[in-house]
This record gives sequence, C-alpha cells and structure tokens, in this order.
Amino acid sequence: MESSVPPAPALHQTYAEALPELSVPWRADVPPDPQLVWLDEELARELGLDPAWLRSEDGIALLTGQVEGTTAQAYAGHQFGTANPLLGDGRAVLLGDLVDPCGRRVDLHLKGSGRTPFARGGDGKAPLGPMLREAVIGRWLHACGVPTTRALAVLTTGERIAPRQGVTDEPGALLVRVAASHLRVGTFEYAAWHLGPEATERLVEHAIARHHPTADGPLGLLDAVAGAQAELVAQWMLLGFVHGVMNTDNMAISGEGIDYGPCAVLDAHRRDAVFSSIDRSGRYAYGNQPGIALWNLSRFAETLVPLIDPEDPNAAVERATAVLETFETRFLDAYARGLAAKLGIDGEREEVLGLGTELFALLEQQRIDHTGFFRALDEGRAEPLFAEQDPFVRWAARREEMRAAPAAPAGATPANPLYVPRNVHLDAALRAAHLGDLGPAGEMLEAVGAPFVRRPERAHLEGPGDGGEDFLTFCGT
Ligand code: AMP
Ligand code: MG
Repeated sequence: MESSVPPAPALHQTYAEALPELSVPWRADVPPDPQLVWLDEELARELGLDPAWLRSEDGIALLTGQVEGTTAQAYAGHQFGTANPLLGDGRAVLLGDLVDPCGRRVDLHLKGSGRTPFARGGDGKAPLGPMLREAVIGRWLHACGVPTTRALAVLTTGERIAPRQGVTDEPGALLVRVAASHLRVGTFEYAAWHLGPEATERLVEHAIARHHPTADGPLGLLDAVAGAQAELVAQWMLLGFVHGVMNTDNMAISGEGIDYGPCAVLDAHRRDAVFSSIDRSGRYAYGNQPGIALWNLSRFAETLVPLIDPEDPNAAVERATAVLETFETRFLDAYARGLAAKLGIDGEREEVLGLGTELFALLEQQRIDHTGFFRALDEGRAEPLFAEQDPFVRWAARREEMRAAPAAPAGATPANPLYVPRNVHLDAALRAAHLGDLGPAGEMLEAVGAPFVRRPERAHLEGPGDGGEDFLTFCGT
C-alpha cells in the first residue's frame, strides 16, 4: 500500500562536492527539547515541502539538522575594514541544497546549531531574540520585493543562553534559513588567501553556474555581482533599511541580503543613522551603505585579479577597476528608478535624483519619519504637512502631470509599505518572546509579511513608537 506520508526532501551537497576544501563535514548538536516556534508555511510550500510533514518528528529532525551530509562552511572576511583570515560557520551548518518545484536551487542552512571547528571563542549558540529578528527582517524584505535570504523556521532548543550585553539569560534557538546560496565575498577571500588560483577558479565556475549563468569568466562574475549589489543596496536605501554589519563575510554573491544581526529601519530620516552597538565609528551608517558595498566589491575584485589575467596583474587590475567604476551609475540608476516609483512620478534620472536629494534634506532637517512620509504621499496625506515647501511643491506638480496623463493607472496600489519592522515595536516583540510570550513576535511576522495592506487591528504597529531615536541593537549575526 502506498504511504500517505510525504518523503523527506532529497538534500544535495552541491557545494561540498564541488569545493571540498571550502567546508568540513559537521553535525549539528542534538537539541534537548526542540520546539517549533514559527514556520513559514508559504515558503515551505514554495520549496515543495509539506508544512504538516515539517511539523512531524521527521520534519523536526530535518529542521534541527539531524540529517546526513551536513557541513560547516569556511570563509574569511574583512570585519569593520580589517582582514580576518579565518571566520567560517562558527555556530551554523549547511544542511544541503534542494531544487524547488520551479527549478530553483536553494540552500537550507541552520544557525545556532552548536560549536564547529570555526567557533573560535564562541559558544556556538543563538538566542531566540536575534533569530526572530532575522526571520522578521527577511520576511519583510521579501514581502517588499527585495532579494533576501528567508527564514523557513525558528525553533527553541530547550537550552538557556548565558546573559549577554543588554540582555539577561534567554532561550536558545535555531534558525532554518533558505538562501540562493551561502557563497559570500568572504568565501572568495578564503579561497584566494589560503587555497590559490585553482580552487578560486573552481569557486568562480561554481558561482557562475549557480547564480550568474550568463557571466563570462571572473571579470563577468565581478560585473554580475556588482550589478546585483547595486540593485540590492538601492532597495535598502529606499526602504530606510540599515544592515548594520556589512562585513565582506556578510555579503552574498547571489545578490541576496544575508545575516541580519544588528540591523534596523530608519524612523526619522537620517543619513548618519547607526543602530548597532558594535558599530562605534559609524562605518555602516545608513548613508554609507552604497560606498561600503563598493568597498566590499573591491575586496571581491582583488580575489579575482590573479584569474582575470594571470600573466599581467596590472592589466587585470585595470580591467577590474573599469568594472568597479560602473557601480556608482548602476546604483544611481536603480535608486532613481525605485525612488520614482515611491514618489509616483517618472522623469529623467537626474531630475528624480535632484528632487530626491531635496526631499530627503527636508526630511532630515525636520526629523520626519522615512516610512511615514512615503506612505503619506501614497495616501494623499502629505499636503497639509509640506504644502509650502519647495521640493514638495515640485513633487506635487510632477505627480499631477502623471495623474493627468492618459496612461495613468486608476486607483494604483500603494508603492510604499505601511508596516516596517520598527525598532521600538520589534524590540518589544523580541523582549516578550524572551519572556515566553510569542504573541507580539507572531503579530510582527504577520504584519511585515503583508506590509502594504492596512489592518485596523495593527494600528499600533504603524508609527515609530516612543524612544526609537536612540535605539541600539545588541544582536550578533
Ligand atoms: P558575523 O557577525 O556575521 O560577521 O559573524 C562573525 C563570525 O562569528 C562568523 O564566523 C560566525 O560564525 C561567528 N559567530 C558568531 N556568533 C558565534 C557564536 N555564538 N559561536 C561561535 N561562532 C560565532
Ligand atoms: Mg555573518
């Protein structure tokens, strides 16, 4: 008789097979009392996984890493501008990859699964708050159409984690993450620094095949990654998102955002906004993000130079530099396109950028809420606030022209999210979860998963709340 129980998904080890030097076989710890806290059922179905099966004993075994073939990945990186030759999955394992029903290959990755050979001084554990934070951020960015890794599930392990800065002892947790892959700029740095050109070449081929199949060789890969990062960071800027720790090991080759630790979303628009307690110099401030992306891409380019022209390093550097020099204009193109959509206008790039600069200066001067401003534009509530102010008057005139145009869409849907993971509300939800009440975190996950549609019962999540100005995050990644 045929069993009605769906089979466990076939997990492949595409990465470990192609690049055995870039990971070590490693098993996750067995958690004493795993409890599923949150499952993204929609994502499960997208992956071809049955949510009911994932909740079963076999499903929990998969979600806690109790499967064959898992590995801890090696990588290096520049952290806050300083090279670190050996990082790697210190508290995570790659479960493997699968091909979803649409033919896309994705990694399943488990964070918080215990010490690995890359753990250095760390305990290998992950607290519940930061794992929920990563789930919320990935879900929100995805709902806003931004390329991102996503949480499939968050579980508690049954252990307690020692107190850390700003937080008392808290529940241990696991995050099951879905990503196009876990190839990072830091993976290339590890290969270039420790393994040499042959392995780096294989890594290039693997990355091209997996993410940028039309790219031609290492220079083509650099070009494709620069383009993907320009698009990504433009979208972050438009949403007011601050990643917070854009080290090269936290930049994915796929162009997805990854490793949401001390990240935050702007309340008042401020170019120098920093929310991470560890970013004392403000290196990863909101307004620095495009420049940092280019800095990281330059470190990526350095790993490729020996492959671009093995005979003539100067010529290779010149060719790589020419690609890096396209970043600014690609970023501005993407940013202007996105800004025009947010403002509900069209126009030449320079015109849109000029208006944007003036509008943002106005927001900054008057400490106006980033998300609230754009949403007020969508809902026709901005006029009373800014009626007399020059850039606003120009915007209103431009928008009227658009509305009068024959092709104007009738009753257009909002371009701007209403619900964003506001620092104050997210923090309150994570604190409640820490104390055992998962209600507010669940509510936040629901709200950010449908961020454009107003729901009266979620009115309390709309505004910034009190005390967001001096907000600090203490999350590791
Ligand atoms: P990130 O914060 O993403 O830049 O990660 C820096 C490095 O620290 C990575 O190699 C992580 O795997 C590692 N790491 C972070 N937290 C822990 C922990 N609790 N135990 C072991 N390794 C950790
Ligand atoms: Mg990281």
